[in-house]
Amino acid sequence: GRGKAEVTVLVLGLDNSGKSTLLNALRAPEQRVAHTTPTVAQQQEHFQSGGVSFSAWDVSGAPRHRALWERHYRRAHAVIFVVDSADHLRLVVAREEMELLLAHPDMFGRRVPLLIFANKSDAAHALAPMQVAAALCLERITDKPWHICASCALSGAGIADGVTWLARQLR
Ligand code: GDP
Repeated sequence: GRGKAEVTVLVLGLDNSGKSTLLNALRAPEQRVAHTTPTVAQQQEHFQSGGVSFSAWDVSGAPRHRALWERHYRRAHAVIFVVDSADHLRLVVAREEMELLLAHPDMFGRRVPLLIFANKSDAAHALAPMQVAAALCLERITDKPWHICASCALSGAGIADGVTWLARQLR
């Protein structure tokens, strides 16, 4: 195992996918904030799960910040990609972002576990995780272990399942 070494997890996804809400749900209850603010580039959050220390970078979906978050790819041990399962139109944009991520020189060919949260599973017309997986063409990923989980960041449902998978990959 890695012992006490810090594991860096990047949390990526389009704006409004639920990253800030998800990160808040991952915090210890006493560290939670009452109101999450829209994602700010370079905002760093920390949490622990499954005996692993996670350091999460909360990145913005704004293209002007791309260089800022791509700089962190190199030292990422894992990636959490958050998708709004009810935003059918922007699933195409999410897929394009994921393709850019996977093709990046600091990501391609690296065995970085990739956890996808099919978030907002509680929303009306939310797609099932398998449908989100198909829309994102996840079956094409061969250089990384990946896992998709339905989640509701508001209630916390599904988050522990995903994080448990991630922690197991990083052990
Ligand atoms: P970010 O821009 O990716 O950080 O997204 P936020 O965490 O700010 O969430 C965007 C909006 O979606 C907010 O109004 C959240 O309350 C809402 N939201 C986040 N997660 C969920 C979820 O699982 N279900 C529902 N119904 N709404 C959610």
